[in-house]
Amino acid sequence: MFRNFKTVPRIAFGRGSFNRLEDVLQEARRENGAFMAFLVDDVFKDTPLARRIPQKETDLMLWVNVDEEPTTAHVDDLTARVRRFSKRLPTAVVGIGGGSTMDLAKAVSLMLTNPGSASDYQGWDLIQRPAVYHVGVPTLSGTGAEVSRTTVLIGPERKLGINSDHTVFDQILLDPDLTASAPADQRFYTGMDCFIHCVESLSGTYLNAFSRAFGEKALDLCLEVFLQAASDADEKLMMASYFGGMSIVYSQVGVCHALSYGLSFILGIHHGIGNSIVFNQLEEFYPEGVRQFRQMMDTNGIALPKGQVAGIEDEKLEKMVDVSLTLDPLWENALGKDWKRIMTRDRIKDLYLRM
Ligand code: NAD
Ligand code: ZN
Repeated sequence: MFRNFKTVPRIAFGRGSFNRLEDVLQEARRENGAFMAFLVDDVFKDTPLARRIPQKETDLMLWVNVDEEPTTAHVDDLTARVRRFSKRLPTAVVGIGGGSTMDLAKAVSLMLTNPGSASDYQGWDLIQRPAVYHVGVPTLSGTGAEVSRTTVLIGPERKLGINSDHTVFDQILLDPDLTASAPADQRFYTGMDCFIHCVESLSGTYLNAFSRAFGEKALDLCLEVFLQAASDADEKLMMASYFGGMSIVYSQVGVCHALSYGLSFILGIHHGIGNSIVFNQLEEFYPEGVRQFRQMMDTNGIALPKGQVAGIEDEKLEKMVDVSLTLDPLWENALGKDWKRIMTRDRIKDLYLRM
């Protein structure tokens, strides 16, 4: 498989590096002197972190709520608010938060320069014009959204990313201190997103030495963090997230992600916890990964919610299957070119009904 993918060109890393965000933004500010648009998870409103954001009077602050995962409608609304704020484009869009907030920032930066609705661009390489310069600052580790070429959005028809080279952040700032306030269960579920990226990448048919190198390291880091309570766990998990993301740029995710997209589209279950619910049922596909996953759940005292799908209306179940079957590359990576014969609708339904 030939790929010529773009990566994040600038990365700042280390505890306390958030204090240098203004330095990092300086170059962009100098270039056209316009305003910055900050998109910040509203969980940080009125917190010490909020007071450390280098917002100038001329900048726009948009607090975003991510109780629901990002939708194309939310992106369109935020984009319109930036446009209403000024006739000029912002110098930069800066996203501060977990995967949801970073994805909103990526999508808004794209939609400021591309016409229409975000839903027009869900798919692969549909974006035509470069985005506004955009910066990602993760406050949760695991999704790899800081490094990926996608922004995952729930649209009117499906949950699917805007995958393009233009989606990739121009700058990321990785400060492990920022993840300290995350609730333990959320930290675990988002961390498991990374673990599952690695398992799916490492056992996929798209795997090559590039993906393996990043995937193996990230998987080991996850095990250190969640089984051995590593002393510098926040640093390690942040790097695991980055490496896990790098692993899947040259491969793909697999069965768990294909099923969990359906789960979150219909039931609104968030990505990290949804993946965990799905992955727990995938012993037949990922035996070693599921064994390690259960060990990590035990060690961290995590109890997964049960019975999420049982009793669901037929129509919803069918739609869940439809959503998951749109994800051809994921299935092909997991099961090979012949995947349609292996993964029938009935088999998918059977898997869903166990969750
Ligand atoms: P999230 O961003 O949805 O946040 C989960 C919860 O944690 C929210 O309530 C949020 O307010 C809170 N939170 C975040 N940081 C916090 C902190 N430091 N302290 C306290 N609370 C905090 O969680 P996530 O798991 O990072 O992201 C999931 C999203 O990422 C999904 O929408 C998923 O589709 C997307 N995703 C994107 C990619 C990609 O490559 N773009 C990859 C995987 C997942
Ligand atoms: Zn994921």
